[in-house]
Amino acid sequence: MKIWKFLTLLWVISFLSLPLFSQRVTKITVDVDRNYYRIFFTFDGKPWYRMYKDPKRHIISIKLENTYKFSKEYYSVNIVGEKNLITIFVRNPELDTSRARVIKKYRTLIVLIPRKHKKFAKYVVVIDPGHGGHDPGAEYYGFEEKNINLAVARKLYYYLSKDPRFKVYMTRKGDYFVSLAGRQKFTAKVGADLFISIHSNANPYNPNRRGAEFYVLSNRGIYKKWVDLAVHPQKAKEFLSSQMVRDKTVRKKVLKTSLEFTQEEGEQLAKELRKMWCRYMARYIPCGGIYERSFAVLKVPGVPTVLVELGYMTNRRDLHYLTSSRYQWAIARTLYLGILDYLNLKPLKKERKGG
Ligand SMILES: [Zn+2]
Repeated sequence: MKIWKFLTLLWVISFLSLPLFSQRVTKITVDVDRNYYRIFFTFDGKPWYRMYKDPKRHIISIKLENTYKFSKEYYSVNIVGEKNLITIFVRNPELDTSRARVIKKYRTLIVLIPRKHKKFAKYVVVIDPGHGGHDPGAEYYGFEEKNINLAVARKLYYYLSKDPRFKVYMTRKGDYFVSLAGRQKFTAKVGADLFISIHSNANPYNPNRRGAEFYVLSNRGIYKKWVDLAVHPQKAKEFLSSQMVRDKTVRKKVLKTSLEFTQEEGEQLAKELRKMWCRYMARYIPCGGIYERSFAVLKVPGVPTVLVELGYMTNRRDLHYLTSSRYQWAIARTLYLGILDYLNLKPLKKERKGG
């Protein structure tokens, strides 16, 4: 008898508290001041929540019930809502995701992200010179792709590292082999804000084919990587904080939104790079298109990724520019300006004077 009483009571309590547990986001507002970035989520009931952080990838996720689908962006912060989860992608290096916390006030959750001192706020860029060591990439007319890629990558490294707003890494600094998985892992480990892979193209069947092309992650690529990481938590740990990986729901959902973020932002980055290429480089190497592919190096969840094919080594004119130090500098500067545009940054004053 006792157990029945208890169950009835439980049923009554759960029935009465149903409206209280309803937690649809009804309003999102953002407030930014000198010390904090605050996101206010107002719910139609008292929210139940759990917060997860991945400071390296600048991702915060909040597990809830019955959030509706939404996607918003405020001051370089993308806020994505799904059925049971809100994921926040922070692309502003001034915001310190590692010290973020949530404050609950009746029907409102306030996500509080402290701001860093400007001096400590840097964008982390990973430059990936394609191939290397025993893998030369394409070989035509006595030139090896790996050397062209590295030469341009080094020059891009120069532009970015002399700009104090960046912290720059290269997946290889010399002529040695690094696996594709190794490049992915490295990019995730250093907490990259963006990733740019540098390659040179070839089409032995059509030597007239020319131009720079830009590759971003495809839907097929997202799906394949997502399935792989969702079923292998050990692998997922390379790309997501262990706290997020431990929770199955969070792992699956955050991986998916992170890969979608990689694609969407990669596309924006590709557009800016292409725009600059069309403006400054097209009279030498034509301005090609943006394509979607399932390339391994593009699959770093939560990091905007692009692979640039600088031009066709099978075309004599493209090859001429690709192998000339002077034009390699021009290419590097164009890519640097594209990265600045993507991040809404202005060129340094000193740089501008030099024209
Ligand atoms: Zn290549």
